[in-house]
Amino acid sequence: MRNGRGLFTAVLVMALWAAARVAAAPEITFVPENPRVGDVVFITLRPEEGLLRAACSWGGKSYPFLATGDLFALALPVSLRSTSGAHRATVYWKYIGGGMGKATVSIQVEARDFGVQHLQLSRKQEKTYSDPEVKRERRLIASALDRVGQERWWQESFLMPVEGRISTGFGLQRYINNRLSYRHRGLDIAAPEGTPVRAAADGVVSLADDSFVLHGQTVIVDHGHGISTLYIHLSQLAVGDGERVRRGQTIGRVGATGVATGPHLHFAVYAYHEAVDPLFWTHLPAR
Ligand SMILES: [Zn+2]
Repeated sequence: MRNGRGLFTAVLVMALWAAARVAAAPEITFVPENPRVGDVVFITLRPEEGLLRAACSWGGKSYPFLATGDLFALALPVSLRSTSGAHRATVYWKYIGGGMGKATVSIQVEARDFGVQHLQLSRKQEKTYSDPEVKRERRLIASALDRVGQERWWQESFLMPVEGRISTGFGLQRYINNRLSYRHRGLDIAAPEGTPVRAAADGVVSLADDSFVLHGQTVIVDHGHGISTLYIHLSQLAVGDGERVRRGQTIGRVGATGVATGPHLHFAVYAYHEAVDPLFWTHLPAR
C-alpha cells in the first residue's frame, strides 16, 4: 500500500511539474473566416498536453470549448442580432497546474438581407400567440435548447429532414396581420401531410410533445456540443423523450398542427440557443 501511494505521489508530482512547464498558448484556428449573420464559426484549439478548460467570450456571452480527442472545439453562433464588421472573440484557457492565458481573434461578419414576409392569419390563430398555454410551451422548448451534450454526435453535414420546396426562408422579418412581428428562426419546407420527417443528425431526443397549441407537435434533438434541431407542426411523433436517434431516422410526420397555414415542416437549428441558418448546416464547410 505504502509503495503504491509513494508511486502515486511521484507520478502526481511529475504530472504537475510537466503541466506547469507547458503553459504555451494553444494553436487557434477558425472556419469560416468571413461568416455571415446566421452562420456558425467552428473554433478549434490545439493545446499542448494538460489543458484543463477553455472558453470563448463573444457578444457578451461565454461559450465553453469541449474536448474532441486531442482537440477542443466550439461551434460559435453568429446570431441574427449580429451586426456586420469585425467582432472580437476572446479565447481564455487554463492548464492543469495553473498556466493560463488568453488570445483575441478578430472575426469579420458579413451582413445578409433576409427579407420581409407579411402573413395573414385568422383572428383565432393570431390570438393563439397570447394564449397562456404558450408560455409553458416556450419554457419547455427553451429548457431543451439550453441542453449541452458533452459528446459531439455530428461530424458531417446535416440531412434535410424533408424533401420539398422551401416556402419561407431563414431569418426574414415576419409580420402577422401587420401587427405581430418576429424573426423567422427556421426554414419552412412545404410537403404533403404525413411525409416522414428524418433526424438531421445523430443525437438524443430532448423534447417530444404533442400538446403544444402554437408550435403543434414538436420534437427537439440534442446533437451535442450545444447544437440542437427543432421540428414543429408535426401530425405525428415517432420518438419519445430521451430516445437516442440516428441521422435519417424517422422522428415524426409532416402536419399542420399548432398555428400553421398548411402542411409543412418548420425546421430550425440552434447553436447554444441561438437560431442559426439550417442551410449552413446542410452544407458544412470543411473543418
Ligand atoms: Zn416556420
